[in-house]
Amino acid sequence: MHLNMKIGVLALQGDFAEHLAALERIGVQASTVRLPEQLEGLQGLIIPGGESTTIGKLATAYGLMEPLRRFAERHAIWGTCAGAIFLSKDAHRRQPLLGLMDIIVERNAFGRQVSSFETDLDVPALCKVDPQDRPFHAVFIRAPLIESVSGTTQVLARLPDGRIVAAQQGRLLATSFHPELTQDDRFHRLFVEMAK
Ligand code: GLN
Repeated sequence: MHLNMKIGVLALQGDFAEHLAALERIGVQASTVRLPEQLEGLQGLIIPGGESTTIGKLATAYGLMEPLRRFAERHAIWGTCAGAIFLSKDAHRRQPLLGLMDIIVERNAFGRQVSSFETDLDVPALCKVDPQDRPFHAVFIRAPLIESVSGTTQVLARLPDGRIVAAQQGRLLATSFHPELTQDDRFHRLFVEMAK
């Protein structure tokens, strides 16, 4: 049990339930966030996969855009897939973005035929939570690529061909894939460490 640690999951749309279940598995208090006041008392927030345009529209309608940007000044945020798009500065389209992370993303980067696939990734940063060095099995579903990173952003994982699929900038984390759809909780544990 992580005492005094509470992580929220943005629950406007997408697979937030899987993130809540993963947090429970690792003994972290978790709660859903739909309204700005529900950010209070949280150390971190996860933005799930889903449809980034829908998440952006709903966040705008619920008055969450500025509260989320303010939250990021002091706390950790992790976006998976659509959540990573929502965190980015640029997704090559007009849609509401938080613009918090110095990453440019390409939505639906894998085309139709390989729109969903799974692969093992080498993620050295996971050593921080598990010294046993083993690949991370990553699930990609109509996933974005992280086309480029800038500023203080660091690349955490690449596909075998070199394309970027995970990045970190301070307390901000972006993954193109869905760790919440596996039973491997190392990314959730890494995020909890970032939120401390
Ligand atoms: N294709 C979605 C988007 O562009 C993301 C898909 C996902 O989150 N699994 O927002």
